[in-house]
Amino acid sequence: MPTQVLFENAEHRNILLEDFTSGQMVQANQHVIIHKGRGILLDPGGHKVYSKALDELSTVLPLGALDYILFSHQDPDIIAAANGWLMVTNAKGFLPQLWIRFITHFGVDELVMENIVPIPDGGLVIDLAGARLPLLPAHFLHSAGNFQLYDPLAKILYTGDLGASLGQTYVTVTNFDDHIQYMEGFHRRYIASNKVLKLWAQMVAPLDIEIIAPQHGAIIAGKENVQRFIQWVQGLACGLDLLED
Ligand code: FE
Repeated sequence: MPTQVLFENAEHRNILLEDFTSGQMVQANQHVIIHKGRGILLDPGGHKVYSKALDELSTVLPLGALDYILFSHQDPDIIAAANGWLMVTNAKGFLPQLWIRFITHFGVDELVMENIVPIPDGGLVIDLAGARLPLLPAHFLHSAGNFQLYDPLAKILYTGDLGASLGQTYVTVTNFDDHIQYMEGFHRRYIASNKVLKLWAQMVAPLDIEIIAPQHGAIIAGKENVQRFIQWVQGLACGLDLLED
């Protein structure tokens, strides 16, 4: 799918980059937020998409204007190419504190380690050229150290692996009931337990959300579908809930 704009006004743009995943690779979305000409890239993906994603990013933002990269958790589809991204840009990376000592095993040089900001367990607020973008704690959804980014200007919640769907051919969900089949298997296996989904639903209830943008699969757009998603996950048994002898 080609690059698309999820939100746009005079000084703020939210872009979903073209999908460069192929073959056996899990499909992954790379999102960019640009505010007053400065950018943040979310979950940039692994080695195989790195050079293409870099080229595509440079068509929407000069690389010198990339201020930040968010690595929401430690999975290879997110941080495998961290060294490359941090070498060729001046961006600061944000990575959960929990995973800091693991990232060097992906070949991240000591030199660029100083460009990585550890995210404390409670989260923090990123300032992108004056736009305040909170990182919300989303531990165990699925990773034990994991964050979601809320963009209050675009009203988009970037949920990482939560809301991930696999196997559908569309980019935006139109029929939520029909879409459940593409999310169910992943959530039941990867999310730790229903308890954490209920806590997440409580946390996001006060937020004004127009779009839920996961790292894999289709985007859940419109308040009604967003609420349906929140309702659905709250009631979903998964992970430990399903384990028997
Ligand atoms: Fe993951």
